[in-house]
Amino acid sequence: MRIDLHVHSTASDGRLTPTELVHLALERGLTAIALTDHDTTDGVAEAQAAARGTGLEVIAGVEINTESEDGDVHFLGYFIRPEDAAFQAHLATLRHARLGRARLMVEKLAHLGLPLDWERVQAIAGEGAVGRPHVARALLERGYITTISEAFEKYIGHEGPAYVPRYRLTPEQAIAAIRAAGGVASLAHPAVAGTVALIPRLAAAGLEAIEVYYPDHTPEQQEMLLALARQYNLVPTGGSDFHALDDPHHAALGSLWVPPEVVEQLRQRAK
Ligand code: AMP
Ligand code: ZN
Ligand code: FE
Ligand code: FE
Repeated sequence: MRIDLHVHSTASDGRLTPTELVHLALERGLTAIALTDHDTTDGVAEAQAAARGTGLEVIAGVEINTESEDGDVHFLGYFIRPEDAAFQAHLATLRHARLGRARLMVEKLAHLGLPLDWERVQAIAGEGAVGRPHVARALLERGYITTISEAFEKYIGHEGPAYVPRYRLTPEQAIAAIRAAGGVASLAHPAVAGTVALIPRLAAAGLEAIEVYYPDHTPEQQEMLLALARQYNLVPTGGSDFHALDDPHHAALGSLWVPPEVVEQLRQRAK
């Protein structure tokens, strides 16, 4: 039994459609994946339909990147009710903000001597929630850079000259929104995001899980997070953060071990 609880599709900034992801997960022999697209659950229905009648469970998930006084805090939501109207209103607001922000980044890049066609960026994003990886792919296409990572290092990373922040919820708002939609909130990749110190405060705010198993977590960090999960009674989740971006920054689907019993633990916590 192998599972992967952090996966992106074309509904946000991944490169495989929900159906393609399901086929790949089946090829790899996975028994469960959680589709955790940024600010959208739009890929979930397609993935669940593609997995029907197979041995694969597709968990309705989401990733919401929030802003605290201490910087970025990413959350994963699991076993969300996608039909929850209040939750969808939150996500629609976040996606709308992504659009304006991507346009501004394209303007900044033009001023830096790297003009892109906005239509092309939109075409790359397709129906999905537009994000920096789409802008990076447009830069790559034009030959301005040679790897996706280079776009972040030189231009659109946090400290980059073309970076534009976007409207975000606070950590407490994101946890509350996920819970109100029946979901379980997990703190995403805390050791790489530098959010380990926030765990006590977030646990008090309704956090019920933390992402322990993650490609960029060292074995020592994993141990440390597992101890914190036990201390604060949090489910230890994990996943590859797969985007199919063919970039060394990104891991392969199902490429790291996550304890399969985590799925039942999350299901039990979901209301
Ligand atoms: P956004 O949500 O538009 O701010 O973009 C964030 C996404 O960009 C993350 O989910 C990652 O997939 C991707 N990303 C962030 N940093 C890097 C990096 N250094 N190299 C490649 N991709 C990155
Ligand atoms: Zn992403
Ligand atoms: Fe993240
Ligand atoms: Fe992610």
